[in-house]
Amino acid sequence: TAPGALQEGLVVSSHGRHCVVETADGTRVRCHPRGKKLEVVVGDRVQWLPSQDEGSIERTLPRRNWLYRQDELRTKSFAANLDQVLILLAAEPEFSEHQLARALIACEAAHIEPLIVLNKADLGALFARGWQRLAPYRAMGYAVLPLAAKARHPHPNPLPPAGEGANSLPTDDGLAALDERLQGRATLILGPSGAGKSTLINRLVPGAQAATGELSQALNSGKHTTTSTTWYWLDAARRSALIDSPGFQEFGLHHIDPMQLAAYMPDIRPHVAECRFYNCTHLHEPGCGVISAVKSGSGAHQISASRYKIYSDLFAELGGRGT
Ligand code: GDP
Ligand code: ZN
Repeated sequence: TAPGALQEGLVVSSHGRHCVVETADGTRVRCHPRGKKLEVVVGDRVQWLPSQDEGSIERTLPRRNWLYRQDELRTKSFAANLDQVLILLAAEPEFSEHQLARALIACEAAHIEPLIVLNKADLGALFARGWQRLAPYRAMGYAVLPLAAKARHPHPNPLPPAGEGANSLPTDDGLAALDERLQGRATLILGPSGAGKSTLINRLVPGAQAATGELSQALNSGKHTTTSTTWYWLDAARRSALIDSPGFQEFGLHHIDPMQLAAYMPDIRPHVAECRFYNCTHLHEPGCGVISAVKSGSGAHQISASRYKIYSDLFAELGGRGT
């Protein structure tokens, strides 16, 4: 390529205003966006101009999808062009259903498939309890996989017996079943701290930590490696990727119209059609299908009190007002 000619690449790491762009042949180049208004995140396909020190990103190509970060401006995205979000939870520490709901709603709104993974399957009764708490999510149609990320030798402990639900428990550590769902996709991995994200990434991407150190040194001479989002290829053919983002993102949901919220919750969604008013907020209206599903007691098509509370809390948070 002639010097000074526009090149295309994939953003594989970002660290503040600096990022690393990978070209089609796998070369990695340090770059920064040309203007302050140009938002560049991991997963973006960009056009950039080589220069002596850092490349200059001239524009991002149109995104398929993206996820927002919770911030004061409510507009910042943090990853783009994803096929899947792996929400890593664990038997312990106990996960928050509210955080899980936020993550799932963010995925639904962005049209990205979520995958829930419950780690620490070796923890017996504690794991069984976590698996039970996820039963409603399996009933909603979400994929939920069990995992024992920490390698055990010579053989992994057997997993506890399968509970109800479509997802059956394997007898191994669950890594093969998980691996199958990662094939050919770009998967963002998120989870509350302590769930086992580092352990899992180190098993899936041997040497990931060393590579992160290198990248971060190149970018910021040794500042914390944990604040950046990083894209790892899982295979030599570069078809499958794992994108590591720090912490359990408090997902930004402010771009969501509160009147659309019910559509992003699979247990609530089917009841909206039963509402008397087309602009029903499902908070107090007469003839509301959602409220009657909350009140109807047990049954497959019931909405649990805790899920309805998540709905009404989020509705208020998003600025929705009862009519
Ligand atoms: P992170 O904060 O999500 O990156 O979590 P880590 O990977 O640092 O793991 C947190 C703790 O959980 C560590 O002590 C791990 O050894 C432990 N851990 C990870 N996976 C498993 C597992 O499958 N079973 C058990 N019992 N502990 C695990
Ligand atoms: Zn309603």
